[in-house]
Amino acid sequence: MSDKRLLLVEDEPGLQLALSDRLSAEGYTVETAGDGNVAVTRATGEPWDIIILDVMLPGRDGFDVAKTIRQQGIQTPILMLTARTQVFDRVVGLKLGADDYLTKPFETIELLARLEALLRRAPSSSPGLSLERYSFGDITVDVRKAEVMSKGRLLDLSAKEFQLLKYFIEHRGATISRDELLQEVWGYSAMPSTRTVDVHVAWLRQKLEPNPRLPQFILTVHGLGYKFAG
Ligand code: CA
Repeated sequence: MSDKRLLLVEDEPGLQLALSDRLSAEGYTVETAGDGNVAVTRATGEPWDIIILDVMLPGRDGFDVAKTIRQQGIQTPILMLTARTQVFDRVVGLKLGADDYLTKPFETIELLARLEALLRRAPSSSPGLSLERYSFGDITVDVRKAEVMSKGRLLDLSAKEFQLLKYFIEHRGATISRDELLQEVWGYSAMPSTRTVDVHVAWLRQKLEPNPRLPQFILTVHGLGYKFAG
């Protein structure tokens, strides 16, 4: 029995059900998604040991899903399912962050063997949201404890400031709009204005930047938003 958490992304109900049953029987804890957008949300929001990802999906395709997951720093092994006709897919898929691929139709025994091989190659410690500590400049962030230290001194961050910093770290190097931050860090329900984002960014800079007037970590991208360069 394998006792691994597996996310199965497949939009074809029959195949989803058949695979789900078989994988559960093999000891996997199987959750399913039948849509590319749902797949991204689930893959990035919870820890998984392995992801099976179909290429042709409603919402967004498997390539886009794999790329987005990897961009968010998540290293969970991905096994892609491609159709026989999609000749170039394997190369593209591997390039975008898939670890292996299997061409449909396939034998379940083959799928199981591939999964086991990928799991053996993966680090044994919990994958998924694997980022536990992150350092930049004099700052060390303990993501699990929600603690931020500067030169060994504990900084006093509000919950929202910490969530904002965590989001920046998880998307380091990417330009992030104020709207995205509002949506992802504050959520739809709160309905604050983009000014709220600016104010929190200013507070974070006060606490984290050696010189808050000349930020080197949380950069302003004029007309677009912010970029974390830590
Ligand atoms: Ca499909």
